[in-house]
Amino acid sequence: MELWRLLAHRNWFTLRAFGLELRLCSRCSGYLAGLCFLTASRRVMALQVLQAIPTQHQFIICMLFAMPLILDWLTKSWGLRESDNVTRFITGAILGVGVSLYSAIEFMPDFKVPLFVLIALAVAIIGLIGLKTKHACESATRGNLRF
Ligand SMILES: [Zn+2]
Repeated sequence: MELWRLLAHRNWFTLRAFGLELRLCSRCSGYLAGLCFLTASRRVMALQVLQAIPTQHQFIICMLFAMPLILDWLTKSWGLRESDNVTRFITGAILGVGVSLYSAIEFMPDFKVPLFVLIALAVAIIGLIGLKTKHACESATRGNLRF
């Protein structure tokens, strides 16, 4: 495996500086940008608005921040549309903001991380089923074209 793939994943953009090239994953870069932005800005602007909302509503708001990325990835995985690096970066950044908010809310503190992992796994499984189905359909189509 090539080492640059560790940071680039499947869809990357290239940063060039001082004669060096660095390939970074669009979605993960957006995620980190959103996470860092809100984590840093939480020190400046308190989360009083979010904390004034009932706890279960705080959870729903955080999940809404995940929806653009989930929809982008699932619709791409199922072959319903194509995505691009700008969309991946933006949806990753929105998720990063949501994860930062999620880390700050009081919603079920003992189950916050397991719930996040469970939701992420469910989305990943649904997406992987879509990828498998898409590849099976493409293979079948290619097979039919030979006859
Ligand atoms: Zn990535």
